[in-house]
Amino acid sequence: MSTIISGIGVARGIVIGPVHKLHGRAMPVERKSVAPAAIEDECTRYTAARETAREQLEAIRDDIPDDTPKEIASFIDTHLLMLDDRAFSSAVTDTIRAESVNAEWALQQQCEQLVAVFDAMDDAYLRSRQDDVEHVVARIQRLLVRGDSNLSAQAAADADGPPVVVADDITPADVILLHQQGIGGFITEFGGPLSHTAILARSLDIPAIVGAHGAAAQVQEGELILVDGQAGEAIAAPSAAERAEFERRAQAHERFRAMLESLRDVPAVTRDGAQVTLLCNIELPADTAHAHGVGAAGVGLYRTEFLYMNRAELPSEAEQYAAYVNVIQAVSGPVTIRTLDLGADKQVDSGRLGGPTPNNPALGLRAIRLCLKEEDLFRVQLRALLRASAHGPIRIMLPMISNLDELLRARALIRGVMEELEEEGLAYDKQVPVGAMIEVPAAALAAGLLAPHCDFFSIGTNDLIQYTLAIDRVDDEVNYLYDPLHPAVLRLIRLTIEAGQAAGIPVSMCGEMAGDARYTRLLLALGLREFSMHPSSVLEIKRIVRDAELAALEPLGQELVGVADAARLQDILRELEPPAD
Ligand code: PEP
Ligand code: MG
Repeated sequence: MSTIISGIGVARGIVIGPVHKLHGRAMPVERKSVAPAAIEDECTRYTAARETAREQLEAIRDDIPDDTPKEIASFIDTHLLMLDDRAFSSAVTDTIRAESVNAEWALQQQCEQLVAVFDAMDDAYLRSRQDDVEHVVARIQRLLVRGDSNLSAQAAADADGPPVVVADDITPADVILLHQQGIGGFITEFGGPLSHTAILARSLDIPAIVGAHGAAAQVQEGELILVDGQAGEAIAAPSAAERAEFERRAQAHERFRAMLESLRDVPAVTRDGAQVTLLCNIELPADTAHAHGVGAAGVGLYRTEFLYMNRAELPSEAEQYAAYVNVIQAVSGPVTIRTLDLGADKQVDSGRLGGPTPNNPALGLRAIRLCLKEEDLFRVQLRALLRASAHGPIRIMLPMISNLDELLRARALIRGVMEELEEEGLAYDKQVPVGAMIEVPAAALAAGLLAPHCDFFSIGTNDLIQYTLAIDRVDDEVNYLYDPLHPAVLRLIRLTIEAGQAAGIPVSMCGEMAGDARYTRLLLALGLREFSMHPSSVLEIKRIVRDAELAALEPLGQELVGVADAARLQDILRELEPPAD
């Protein structure tokens, strides 16, 4: 009997492969007594699992391709160091012997003690190590429970497709690691389509479903599962007919892709000749290959915070400079580099910068707020960015601006860094455009006041929708309220575009809405001419742009923001729907 699992499809594509269950976090285990005669065997079982964990990590690290971001290797190094610590060696076997208990229980005791110790630390960096403790414990636990969980080995051995991870939750860092290990797709029980885990799945082109409550309990390790990352549907232990249906979907998906491929080198112009700029969002320097592959006109959002993740130390100026130059040289067209946007669901291994975890991280010290508080941290990035600007066109984009003062302070800091570089005789682009992300309702409402001090705007709809509609973007319980078509959201987008037009500055959009084919005609109607999205959407959006006629769309956009009649609103929205595939 097959089992149907549904959730939210967040990254398109079909994958067919064996289930690989994972616990993103250490799971609770049962305490079992061990007979005196079996104690030494239990210790050996633990030591062997720890040894295998080490071998797995070493093998993954040694197999990492050259173009993999350095942060992945340092993430693995941190875990290797922990495995060597007494806490994960003699402390566990001592507990097995002293209490005559099973290895899983002894390991859990150690985990709890360590987490409590880390939790009580004043130092934010050390406090954050508790996440690593949990990850290391989860890895050893998996080996104790199941013997072997090396995905790479399993993928190679399995002729029936790449593994499909089914997990409670997966962090953005885990997505990078699992991608390296060759997974074909993933399903998580929690999370929403706007979480950074979902965004990363799209950018790495891994079919994924999130918010599939109870999925892990419904599937068995190793059984075959079919995943449709667009429909948000998966079928475990499928019948032959179900499998054939997914194989058909996979073929249709391939044909659609091939049709889109043929659009790579044609311009993004509407039927009536309006030029539209299609840019890419990238997370890692290696993503530039994708941007290049789809013929994007540049990068509209480079999320630099991923340079800061999965590592013990913050990246130096030299390292950042090298990463930015790398991206600039790999991309044709301007690269919009967003300054550090840490906080909320994006945290670094080096601890919550700026203090203890607040009750409402999304409303707390994140993005530009954090950078203006931690000026030294910001200055390092600004120096790297400005020095990189000597190698090609960049735009500096400031995240989460909510008032004019923040914008002016950030601009003053940029000017200060420019003067410093001047004195040191270091080259930089004196005209580098500096713009604001419009992702807080206050910024959209005050866009007219911000525009004279900006060289461009970029609308971040992921956060703009979260803050306007008061829904946590990573909380799947309130996901049903996420509505890009809410009149309040449409009005804020329109206001921002109008403010940009009045000030004569370009307005881009880099939230997920810009890469969602359902909204392309609507955004064109509202006056948007610059879209930035994950590379896998560029060709599909180009198809819609080339089919559109602005003369017909613009009057609809005007009417849309003021329409009071619900039936007329539905008519307009229908007219703005995308053309058939
Ligand atoms: C946004 O908020 O729309 C955005 C692009 O930024 P991020 O998703 O990184 O918060
Ligand atoms: Mg944002």
